[in-house]
Amino acid sequence: MTLKILTIVGARPQFIKAAAVSRAIRETDGLSEVMVHTGQHFDPNMSDVFFEELDIPKPRHHLDINGGGHGDMTGRMLMAIEPILLEEKPDWVVVYGDTNSTLAGALAASKLHIPVAHVEAGLRSFNRRMPEEINRVVTDHLSALQLCPTTTAVTNLAAEGVTAGVHHVGDVMYDATLFVTDKAEKSSTILTNLGLASKTYALATIHRAENTGDRQQLLAVVQFLQDQSRKFPVVLPLHPRTRQAALAMGVDLGGLKVIDPVGYLDMAKLLHNALEVYTDSGGVQKEAYFHGVPCITLRDETEWTETITHGWNRLWKQSSQAVRRDIDEYGTGRAAYHVARLLSSGGPR
Ligand code: UDP
Repeated sequence: MTLKILTIVGARPQFIKAAAVSRAIRETDGLSEVMVHTGQHFDPNMSDVFFEELDIPKPRHHLDINGGGHGDMTGRMLMAIEPILLEEKPDWVVVYGDTNSTLAGALAASKLHIPVAHVEAGLRSFNRRMPEEINRVVTDHLSALQLCPTTTAVTNLAAEGVTAGVHHVGDVMYDATLFVTDKAEKSSTILTNLGLASKTYALATIHRAENTGDRQQLLAVVQFLQDQSRKFPVVLPLHPRTRQAALAMGVDLGGLKVIDPVGYLDMAKLLHNALEVYTDSGGVQKEAYFHGVPCITLRDETEWTETITHGWNRLWKQSSQAVRRDIDEYGTGRAAYHVARLLSSGGPR
């Protein structure tokens, strides 16, 4: 018997995580996969490039839903996903991370009694003002399988009474990093294109609503990057949301090496060769560690607390950094295979 998995993705980090799991699904007997793209991220350099570079199966269903407020976007996704689930009748719905696409997929499936597997379950910032936190909490509580990247995530779920179906599988983004790093080192020409040598620059990303939704906050973050850029060039692949916010709020990005968002190979090359990383991204904080690069997180808290306790990361308002040691939470690069094995073991249906 083949179990049918319906994967719902929509945003950049989800394409990267799904690429690793999708590869493992293809290599696991008894599993087949149908991909649904909600359309939350749609620019070619925020979506298509990842499907091409990471060999992700072409979505069978593309919903083309983006823009609007959270309720509007999530509501439209719910309405569009339900008939697809009724038509496809999957054995599992797999969702990733913490976006509106994650929440809509989990809600639509659980209302139809289709078991949900949540990859990157159990992360908490304990800040309910973050839309991502709401999406994670609800998705975790609706899921039949909680696939946790860290033991802290397992503990977070236990504190909320969620213990059945919880597995520490490691971080599928570590799998993704191992998969691309050598290839990126050989094939990406981004450093030459930018006229940069290895270990002479810092890499920054900004996209969180808490940093882009308020002019004073965005100004403070940009000022921090501009101060750093007096020591070495700071490369900033600019998320479309941040570009719009800076333009609308009149925030000057002068002094920074601003570029368009890059594909995953170029990003791996930029990360691998950076001196330091400054980011408000969840994924990029860990990727800095995977590439052995210290990180400063442009937020007041992080879900990836082990990067802080192990000295690879600090919050930008913290002055001290812990002593650096290896983190053994993220697995050995086989997290996606653990996910596939758990899915193939049948689930609760
Ligand atoms: N990323 C990329 N190109 C870029 C910026 C980021 O490929 O120009 C990758 C990055 O390496 C990481 C993922 O996108 O794997 C992170 O996505 P994002 O920061 O949008 O989301 P988050 O991790 O905060 O959910």
